[in-house]
Amino acid sequence: MSVQSYIDKILHDVQSHSPGQTEFYQAVHEVLYSLVPLFEEDNRYDIHNILERIVIPERSIIFRVCWVDDSGKIQTNLGYRVQFNSAIGQYKGGLRFHPSVNLGIIKFLGFEQIFKNALTGLQIGGAKGGSNFDPKGKSDNEIMRFCQAFMAELFKHIGKTRDVPAGDIGVGAREIGYLFGQYKKLTGHFEGVITGKGLNWGGSNARKEATGYGSVYFADNVLKKYGKNLEGKICTVSGSGNVAIYTIEKLYEMGAIPVTCSDSKGTIYHETGIDVNSLKVIKEINHQSLEAYAQVHPGCIYTPITHYPEGQHQTWNIPCDVAFPSATQNELNLQDAKTLVANGCLLINEGANMPTTPEAVAYLKEHKILFGPGKAANAGGVATSQLEMSQNASMANWSFEEVDIKLREIMHNIFETAYETSKEFGREGDLVSGANIAGFRKVADSMIDQGAI
Ligand code: NAP
Repeated sequence: MSVQSYIDKILHDVQSHSPGQTEFYQAVHEVLYSLVPLFEEDNRYDIHNILERIVIPERSIIFRVCWVDDSGKIQTNLGYRVQFNSAIGQYKGGLRFHPSVNLGIIKFLGFEQIFKNALTGLQIGGAKGGSNFDPKGKSDNEIMRFCQAFMAELFKHIGKTRDVPAGDIGVGAREIGYLFGQYKKLTGHFEGVITGKGLNWGGSNARKEATGYGSVYFADNVLKKYGKNLEGKICTVSGSGNVAIYTIEKLYEMGAIPVTCSDSKGTIYHETGIDVNSLKVIKEINHQSLEAYAQVHPGCIYTPITHYPEGQHQTWNIPCDVAFPSATQNELNLQDAKTLVANGCLLINEGANMPTTPEAVAYLKEHKILFGPGKAANAGGVATSQLEMSQNASMANWSFEEVDIKLREIMHNIFETAYETSKEFGREGDLVSGANIAGFRKVADSMIDQGAI
């Protein structure tokens, strides 16, 4: 059977055993097709049935979460933890609280996490979890009760050498605090079972900033390879959460001008540059919509989603040199890609997981636009989580500068690994292929070493 037919068969199997899991299928499709040159060169992965095994999680846990709202009514949500692959280390991956969460979304994120974690060069396996709980509009007490109820089941399946969750969409410092507090109460152990902790109780300096900073370091590496840099570049950023805020902050430090941010209700275009301090107050402290930003910055333009150009995201309509999709999956489509190319964009650097649709990725590739895939570009968060785990295990506390230096080095190594692997397989500069092949090879070789488990 040709490599192509073999991959087609695996994809067909994925569709039949995971019906309706569109995002999961999309993620598997992208990874598997980029592995063709590796499979053509090395038949060990075929002999050991690696593809058949790697697309199935080692374990998927689905549970009921019952919690009491402020009016005394019992509310019910679904909780998930997909422990996808532990070939190179204990499970590691964030928790997402968003109404769109379902098993397919968590499996897509967990699958991506396997290769992302491998790319960091650290010993961490892939997992992801979350709930269809919507933190928006909930009181602090409701958030706390939900987190406690969620952890009341999750704690049975995690542990500092077993599975270490972290944050993702809808899970920030506040939620991590409540989750950790409940884990400690239930187990009696104060241990590094979750990352993104507060600095007073085992957190790492620069963890909060790591994904956004890391994404900018990655973009800098890509541009430098082609004799360019971020100095003076106009950058568009989508999202206004953890990744977007610290992408914007680091862009200023690198001499660039970030001019947009967005949320689920609209986009801000601030021609002279986004006011990052104001953004932090609105999003991290007050948990408000970006309309509040427009009210305090009359110089900016706020476009609500009802006014976006048809079938497009307003953020990608703003001319830029570098685009940083940093909100959610499939937020940059073919039409957006066409607009970016027409406006002379040099690089699309994915801060979010799978934000660019497959058709858009293909279009960008065809037009030779530089592209930093999420599993490489946003790996700084999980890498710094692992640094938090190292500090917890050795009771150390590294300074912000020490962690930031390590983060920069890790992002440089991730870029080099992806670039050199793309070259090795005759696809020089195709970082999607390079990242997928490099991450896959490390995990697959470890699976072969460990036998049929
Ligand atoms: P976050 O702090 O919760 O922020 C998410 C942002 O995206 C918010 O501005 C949110 O708008 C917007 N958003 C979420 N879902 C949306 C949707 N369906 N439509 C439009 N806007 C939406 O989350 P985050 O941690 O920054 O994560 C952002 C992305 O980065 C996700 O893809 C995540 O998987 C990825 N990532 C995160 C990390 C990390 O360390 N946090 C690491 C690697 C990758 P509202 O404020 O209106 O909800």
